[in-house]
Amino acid sequence: MTFRPVLERADKRPILIAGPCSAETEEQVLQTARELASDGMIDLYRAGIWKPRTRPGEFEGVGAPGLAWLKKVKEETGLKVTTEVGNREHVFEALKAGVDVLWIGARTTVNPFSIQEVADALRGVDIPVIVKNPVNPDLKLWMGGIERIYKAGITRLAAIHRGFSFHGETSYRNVPHWQIPIDLRRNFPDIQIFCDNSHICGRRDTLQEVAQKAMDLNFDGLMTEVHPTPDEAWSDAAQQITPAQYKLMIESMVFPQANSADPIFVQHMNDLRHEIDEIDEDLLNLLGRRMKIAEKIGEYKKENNIAVLQTSRWNEILSKAVKHGAKKGLSEDFVTVVLKAIHDESINHQIRIMHGEEAVK
Ligand code: PEP
Ligand code: MN
Repeated sequence: MTFRPVLERADKRPILIAGPCSAETEEQVLQTARELASDGMIDLYRAGIWKPRTRPGEFEGVGAPGLAWLKKVKEETGLKVTTEVGNREHVFEALKAGVDVLWIGARTTVNPFSIQEVADALRGVDIPVIVKNPVNPDLKLWMGGIERIYKAGITRLAAIHRGFSFHGETSYRNVPHWQIPIDLRRNFPDIQIFCDNSHICGRRDTLQEVAQKAMDLNFDGLMTEVHPTPDEAWSDAAQQITPAQYKLMIESMVFPQANSADPIFVQHMNDLRHEIDEIDEDLLNLLGRRMKIAEKIGEYKKENNIAVLQTSRWNEILSKAVKHGAKKGLSEDFVTVVLKAIHDESINHQIRIMHGEEAVK
């Protein structure tokens, strides 16, 4: 699959998408757009017209009449506009109103029937589409959503990372699981990926930190919710910021370039990467040696009819490693995950020795 960019900028700055969670009134939509457009900072203006709310009774959007306000935004400010579509009717209405870019929300990506309905409605239309990740941390479902839209003939296609639902204690509204968008990039190397820091954070005070992390990970841009009076917003009040706060956030961020052609930089990076490659090779050689010893232990246990798993020994290995790791600046979580993986592999090798090859599938 070959993707074309949804939006492009002449300079090297990331693509910026901003606007209110929901279009509420004509005045609110226009006022926010005017303030955001004033210095040409943003590339695309967002506003939800149809709001997929988790529970009934919450504000479900102004519906099709709000599309006329977006049209006015375009006419008055020259900004391109985007809104969320979740079914055939939304697509037809949005296209009729001249919306420039469509986005598909997390609650739509999660359902192949819904996303297929949107894809079918888009067949034969050349409009950029952005697909948010599904609410659950499922890379394949996200890829599947993108593939369904692509198969409908849409190639100006991008992704938005907006985090994943989570049950339990967390400081995020939707936990980022950064590895998932990174894996999406590995599967679709030329797709643009934007970070929706608003829905990841669910609150104002962490918006910049998450946006910066996305930039450090080489995302192509940001989608952020901006409202003239955030506390009074009809949806997602806690995470919205004013246009002035938004501009301050963007101005305080560092936008690293994806790469540099400077020969000194390239040489230095090559040297460091070479060192990393050597260390990785050493690590794998060591792990191979460790498994050989585990196999010897397996043989010895077999001769003496002793069980493979020795819980007290495993606890001892783990607590020793966590202590040693801390001295080397490695977190307890990291050491535990690594040691568990090594231990699992070790046990598998031992079981193979005890019961023969086919026992370890
Ligand atoms: C939104 O962008 O306002 C929205 C509903 O987002 P999500 O689909 O990510 O929940
Ligand atoms: Mn929202």
